[in-house]
Parts: sequence; structure tokens; C-alpha cells
Amino acid sequence: MLIAVDGPLASGKGTIARYLARTYNLPHLDTGLLYRATGLGVLRAGQDPADEKAALASARRVTAQALTDPELRSARAGAAASRVAAIPAVRQALLEYQRSFAAQPGGAVLDGRDIGTVICPQADVKLWVCAPAEERARRRYEELRGRGERITYEQVLEQLRERDARDAGRKDAPMRRAADAHLLNTGGLSIDAAFEAARRIVDAAMAEPDRDANP
Ligand code: C5P
Repeated sequence: MLIAVDGPLASGKGTIARYLARTYNLPHLDTGLLYRATGLGVLRAGQDPADEKAALASARRVTAQALTDPELRSARAGAAASRVAAIPAVRQALLEYQRSFAAQPGGAVLDGRDIGTVICPQADVKLWVCAPAEERARRRYEELRGRGERITYEQVLEQLRERDARDAGRKDAPMRRAADAHLLNTGGLSIDAAFEAARRIVDAAMAEPDRDANP
């Protein structure tokens, strides 16, 4: 069973993807970490995330081990991630890692921006997780404050809008809902209610009678 979970920043897609992985006993890949590790690698080398050569070299150095670095969750890693993610050569360099993760025999859950459209268009179930920008900014603000970052709510909202625009506006693999993705709006939902809604979508999709039929 291959599940693709996409959506914008702080929509709840990561939490929902982890929940689905636990529920269906599947391995999970947060693909944003690949871009964050690439972006952070560039920053640590003292280079500019918009520099294609530097970003590509960093993308090629990304390993599974690098994805466990706690600094990947910082706001600066997120901002650098979104810059390197707009470079087609970087996306190409990270494609194979994601596709082989998705090809595991028992299936997998992947979350990101282009899983249902580019990485795994053949996924069994696709979810598009969204929520209003103000609510997403509030969640991200609380998370960053909890990590000790000094940032205001207004700054978070502004960065979030910038990031949404860059992710949705880039030419290569822009963030967008796949035509066959189920919409899950987490606005105003408790975590448990969002989990329940996600589980219902997956169960219903897996129970469709013609799921395995050849067209
Ligand atoms: O989801 P997360 O905030 O960790 O993603 C960081 C950035 O990585 C996103 O803003 C986006 O630019 C990029 N990304 C992407 N494609 C993915 C996952 C993340 O372009 N599949």
C-alpha cells in the first residue's frame, strides 16, 4: 500500500503521514527533510542556497543519517529548503532516493509537496492536507517558539505566505493537489479528528471494489 500525503507548510501533513504509517505499519519518509538537509548543507558551507552548483553538490551528499539532524527543523533550514527545492537539478538528484523508498515491497507513506503528482503518481491513496494560512502560521509559530526560536507570529505568517508562493509558483514540480487526491482540511480540527478523517479516507480508498482491476 503506497500512500502519498501532500500539502503546504504546517497543514498537518507530516503528523498525519506519521499516524498513517503507524496505523498501517508502513515505513514513512518525510521528503521535506531531503530538501532541508540540502539547504542546511549549503548554509553550513557558507554558500547561497540559490547557487545551483553548491545546492546540487549538497543534494548529492544527503544520506539517511543526515535526515536525523535536529537542526533540520529550524526556520533557517526550512527557508533554505524552499530555495534549493526550486532548482530542477536538485529535485532530480533527490528523486531516486524517494522513488526507491516508495518501491519497498510492503509499501510506504511519503509526505511532501509533489508526491502524488511527480514522485508517486501511481500511489494507491493520495491525500491533499490543507488549512487556512493564519491557522498554519499559528501552529508553526508555537512549534518554533517551543524550540526556543525568537520570532513573532507576524514574521511566521509572512514567511509562510512567501514559502507557499515559491513552492506553488516554481516551474519544476510545483506544489499542487493531484487531480485524484482526497482533500483533508485540518482547519479547526483536533489532531484526533484529523487522524480519524485520514484513516477513513484510506480505508474507503482501499475498499474500492475496482482498485486492483486492470483498466
Ligand atoms: O515540508 P517541509 O516544510 O519540511 O519542506 C521544506 C521545503 O522543501 C518546502 O517548502 C518545499 O520547498 C520543499 N519540498 C519540496 N518537495 C517536497 C518536500 C519539500 O519541494 N516533496
